[in-house]
Amino acid sequence: METKYSYAAGPAVATIDLLDKFRPYADAVEQLSGLANPPFRTVIDQVLSPFEVVIAGRKTIMIGSNNYLGLTFDPELIEASKEAAETFGVGTTGSRMANGSFSIHQALEHEMAQFMGKRHAIVFTTGHHANLAMIGTLGGPQDVILLDAECHASIYDACRLGSAQIIRFRHNSPADLEKKLARLDRSSRHKLIVVEGCYSMSGDLAPLDEIVRLKNEYNAYLLVDEAHSLGVFGHTGRGAAEHFGVDDDVEFITGTFSKSLAGTGGFCVSHLDVLPLFHYCARAYMFTASGTPASIASVRAALQLMRRKPELRDRLWNNARRMRDGFQRLGFAVVNGDSPIVSLLIGDQTTTVLFWEALVRNGIYCNLFLPPATPKNGCMLRTSYSAAHTREVLDLALSIFERVGREMGILKSGTEPQSA
Ligand code: PMP
Repeated sequence: METKYSYAAGPAVATIDLLDKFRPYADAVEQLSGLANPPFRTVIDQVLSPFEVVIAGRKTIMIGSNNYLGLTFDPELIEASKEAAETFGVGTTGSRMANGSFSIHQALEHEMAQFMGKRHAIVFTTGHHANLAMIGTLGGPQDVILLDAECHASIYDACRLGSAQIIRFRHNSPADLEKKLARLDRSSRHKLIVVEGCYSMSGDLAPLDEIVRLKNEYNAYLLVDEAHSLGVFGHTGRGAAEHFGVDDDVEFITGTFSKSLAGTGGFCVSHLDVLPLFHYCARAYMFTASGTPASIASVRAALQLMRRKPELRDRLWNNARRMRDGFQRLGFAVVNGDSPIVSLLIGDQTTTVLFWEALVRNGIYCNLFLPPATPKNGCMLRTSYSAAHTREVLDLALSIFERVGREMGILKSGTEPQSA
């Protein structure tokens, strides 16, 4: 029989080839390759500012980044990075456990714990590693992890890494969570609930007040990933748990430095004395190189700056609300939420891809999400805002969405505002 599909050189003999599973990807890539700007491989040639880039020779408005506080070009952060590279070198060339724990990693841990009002903090190489290390290590064979269905891929990966039983509950549905908790032994302390403070695709907040009530009632632990909420929500920018006034009830908070803090890296904070033990048992901490000195130093500077300048958060919120209102006024189907992530439902897959590509050709970059990566298997465009965007640039972005939307028949004249 012939090989159905093979990338390997040599005679086609096998019925089932190791590489067969890549065929759907190859087909999809081929389909998209006819577009002037094929999605998912966009190359940014130049970064002109926190909100302007050059793509395919064209100046483009960036509304597809999580640069919430707009700090990527802040002179204080750049200076801190340069100084750290000169002092500590450009790389750590080893893991935290071996030779990659420098004084600046430890200093950042103290500063994160202090900022988040917790006893302990651990710094990881990325936010993805933070979730792998924490959730993957917490979930043992006797345990049950209950996670919101819309959790980020890193949380799903972490669940696979551990050996706990995994139960998904409906997105942002405390009622479904309760139904699932009620089937488990109420008195056992083998349960971990995992949610995000603010969900990365739809931009909606977890109802943490209700989730905390349930976790107390059913004797569970709670881990909240504040990747998209740190620096955005809460009186001091600690995140969604602070926003709901439940910080003291969350056992583990994970997050990333790659959004509001404009660097790379991840963290976990906790008031529980078990956290420092993860330095010795979390594989995603132990077996990967630690964050580069330049990034760790810029994150420390960003943390200070975020504390000193709460007005950045006000600017961010003004920008986000201006855009949410603007899209609704134009008649786009805006996904419900109140955060700097404003997602739009455009239509079927072909229409969504073509609209995204037309936006790129017209000087707008946002994120394209297609099934199976999307909630409810819809197709959507995610836009996200920054304290650095100016009014002029945001109004220009809206006018481009409107023009291209009308040209493509996505917006009809006289369309009533919608939400989804
Ligand atoms: N958690 C969530 C909710 C995220 O959205 C992301 C990144 N998009 C991560 C974790 C991973 O963070 P990092 O990019 O630092 O690996």
